[in-house]
Amino acid sequence: MAVDLGKTAKERKIKYFLISYTDLFGTQRAKLVPAAAINEMAKAGAGFAGFATWLDMTPADSDMFAVPDPDTLIQLPWKPEVGWMAADLFMDGKIVEQAPRTVLKRQTEKAKKLGYELKTGVECEFFLTAADGTTISDGADKQEKPCYDQSALMRRYDVISEICDAMLALGWKPYQNDHEDANGQFEMNWNYDHALITADRHAFFKFLVKSVAEKHGLRATFMPKPFSNLTGNGCHAHVSLWRGKTNLFEDAKGDLGVSKLGYNFIGGLIHNAEALCALTNPTVNSYKRINAPRTTSGATWSPNTITYAGNNRTHMIRIPEGGRFEFRLADGAANPYLLQAGLLAAGLDGITNKRDPGKRLDINMYTEGHTVKGAKKLPLNLLDALRALESSKVLGAALGDFVPSYLKLKSDEWNAYARHLTEWERETTLDC
Ligand code: ADP
Ligand code: MG
Ligand code: MG
Ligand code: MG
Ligand code: MG
Repeated sequence: MAVDLGKTAKERKIKYFLISYTDLFGTQRAKLVPAAAINEMAKAGAGFAGFATWLDMTPADSDMFAVPDPDTLIQLPWKPEVGWMAADLFMDGKIVEQAPRTVLKRQTEKAKKLGYELKTGVECEFFLTAADGTTISDGADKQEKPCYDQSALMRRYDVISEICDAMLALGWKPYQNDHEDANGQFEMNWNYDHALITADRHAFFKFLVKSVAEKHGLRATFMPKPFSNLTGNGCHAHVSLWRGKTNLFEDAKGDLGVSKLGYNFIGGLIHNAEALCALTNPTVNSYKRINAPRTTSGATWSPNTITYAGNNRTHMIRIPEGGRFEFRLADGAANPYLLQAGLLAAGLDGITNKRDPGKRLDINMYTEGHTVKGAKKLPLNLLDALRALESSKVLGAALGDFVPSYLKLKSDEWNAYARHLTEWERETTLDC
């Protein structure tokens, strides 16, 4: 065996390991394995009934085995005697292709063959709420423009600093924390890295934030739009593509310092945006963040159109400086692995087919959007996005068998929602 985890456990005083995987809906599933059993378990994999989680399987299917990736080992900062590892799924001796981490690995392998490595950084906004999730946790956090509110930030210093300390110790190189644009909302930033590393960290970050919040008697949510009058939880991704030590998106002579290849990548995201929404905005609630009316702070900070601009936060893509761009579409419900896989699949399509992103729109899209003819709108709901993914030849071919599995489960979710009788319907239809 390559890594003796039993020995690691002794050296690092780990009593238990969490062998963890992320299912199609982004939920983390795990088995808690005592250190004495870890070497056997790591070889054979921890057993799961796949159907019992959000995967396209049946109760009659064989056991599924989660084989941990020792490179991802993290001792829980709030309980160091437990070591967490991301795992890959196997069934009947074969890798499970629909598993999100594998979906991403397939894309990074494809990119590697073409000589590319995707590097990204994600900005995972979240709210700190009361334990029951119905209100923000800080009654004094009431400003109309609460962004960067120093006092509100410091009233949550104990939670934020505990999370940041953990990231420092893990070597993620966090560099800033702030109060965001909604009352009760925060963001913590760490350095970008290879897409798979960022996805594993993104998954763990959500676990970390929720766990530390709980420890302090609060609750953390990444829900895209938990409060309809407040700015929602985005999950912006900053993107660059590398060959060795060279950032291929960098070109001092290119518009805004971005290379032709970079614009082709952007062209791929623009070409595939509607279908991509099914991955980057994967819940019914996601569509209440995008295409939303103005929030109490003055702006939603989320896109409505499939457009790009320079250093301007009213579009789907923003180019803040040369050598990278920011994809502002994704939200807090995005599956960390599928977000990166979708970005890469769409971007590689852009490069392969030399997609033209069209004209840069250096306007305030919220107030001047109507002056632009033909600016494509984002899907208005999850069903439109699922249909776009279903009919997308590009993403269908790039992401393979994962797509029908994902669509099946997500369509069931949409149908469950459609069957739900809402108060709004009652109010508007009772007197029909
Ligand atoms: P903003 O709020 O202005 O959108 P943040 O500072 O919150 O930006 O987040 C920026 C993210 O982009 C960080 O994760 C950072 O590491 C990442 N980043 C910076 N440069 C690059 C790059 N060249 N490629 C990919 N990600 C990058
Ligand atoms: Mg059992
Ligand atoms: Mg930010
Ligand atoms: Mg933000
Ligand atoms: Mg951002």
